[in-house]
Amino acid sequence: MKDKNKRFSPKLLIIIFILIFLPMLVMGVIRMEGEQPSVTFEMPSKYIGLDKGLEITIADHKSGLKRFWVAVLQDGKETTLIEKHFPAVGILHKGSSTSESIHISIEPQKIDLKDGKAMLRMMAVDYSWKSWGKGNRSYSEIEVIIDTEAPIARVLSRSHNISPGGSNAVVYALSEPCDISGVQVGDHFYPGYPNQEGKDEIRIAFFALDNQQGSGTDMFLVAKDRAGNQTKTEFYHYIKNKKFKKDTIRISDRFILGKLPEFQKALAGQVLEKPLDKFLFINREIRARNQAVLNNLMQKSDSTMYWKDTFLRLPKSATRSGFGDRRTYFYKGKPVDKQTHLGIDLASLAISPVPAANSGKVIYAETLGIYGRLMVIDHGCGLFTMYAHLSSFNVPVGQMVKKGEIIANTGKSGLAGGDHLHYSVLISGTFVDPIEWWDASWIQNNITHKIERLGEGE
Ligand SMILES: [Zn+2]
Repeated sequence: MKDKNKRFSPKLLIIIFILIFLPMLVMGVIRMEGEQPSVTFEMPSKYIGLDKGLEITIADHKSGLKRFWVAVLQDGKETTLIEKHFPAVGILHKGSSTSESIHISIEPQKIDLKDGKAMLRMMAVDYSWKSWGKGNRSYSEIEVIIDTEAPIARVLSRSHNISPGGSNAVVYALSEPCDISGVQVGDHFYPGYPNQEGKDEIRIAFFALDNQQGSGTDMFLVAKDRAGNQTKTEFYHYIKNKKFKKDTIRISDRFILGKLPEFQKALAGQVLEKPLDKFLFINREIRARNQAVLNNLMQKSDSTMYWKDTFLRLPKSATRSGFGDRRTYFYKGKPVDKQTHLGIDLASLAISPVPAANSGKVIYAETLGIYGRLMVIDHGCGLFTMYAHLSSFNVPVGQMVKKGEIIANTGKSGLAGGDHLHYSVLISGTFVDPIEWWDASWIQNNITHKIERLGEGE
């Protein structure tokens, strides 16, 4: 018991160590963490146009964020785009923020950047005690291309005469690669497709006037490059007038009740009691939904022009209804609805074999509301044909078919009164008059002629 009077007993030292130095040591080890802050952003294109916004998320969950810096470097000159400092808190001096969303805007003309290559530099630093208190840093460099010049679209085709419900094509050359280019007609957009092998800059855009668009419709070429620079180019065109026929359709309870089983699923959940109300729901609501499905389906098309020469018409058939007919539906002697007929009805013998109007790829063979069993062929570059009210399909989706090949049989599925083929031609989802596509001289003058001239070098 001699040691009793010593100033520091080993026990006390251990207690002091446990109470003071150990926590400091542990804290020190924690605050010396070596994890870098994370920097995430999405930049699908390395092209920067007149104004590029970038959303950046920075995070550091251990020590907190201290500093974030972004600059752009071109020809040895560095311009800071953003520099942010985040405060520290507490006796341990940790960052008050562990995650931040930062928006930066790059406007090349405001900061004297020239078109061409440049480098984005980003750095984030945290409040770690690592590196003598300098913290962990993450640094990255991203190569970008400044492009503030709008593309030029040069129209190569000359005449573009079109009437409501009509088709046409424009051929043009682009001065630089474009993500989007084509013809804007009112609120419809018709994309252009590269048509000549190895000549990506030359495009053909098939376009249409829908059956409601008249002579006042805006029509111009649009091109948007990879940096988002956009040009509008006027091209010479002439819009002819057209009057559509009127037609009356008589609807009876017998017809409606006979059709209801086909629409049972589509009508489920609807509180409609009278047959007429059910018919009106089908003729308005389901018709609109079906057209939206088709429009959506036809936003994409193969860039190969599969078709050649005139389109075939169902053999030995009589025309029952025309394209664009303004139909009034009568029920018990009273007009109850109005719709426009967007195809041509062709009647032949029941269950007649249906030939593909031209070569292409089958992209749809399913039942679709008012159209019943429906087949759609993609002829390439935005041009489609569709065959409705079928009784059977002969070829599956995805199959390439040749002009004249039997693809289906006629029927009366969907909202059809009797066996017939409802045949439609569409351009990027817009219904057009099939008659033009049955006319060899129309095709030659309005389409083929423009493409042939390209081969001659204009
Ligand atoms: Zn029809």
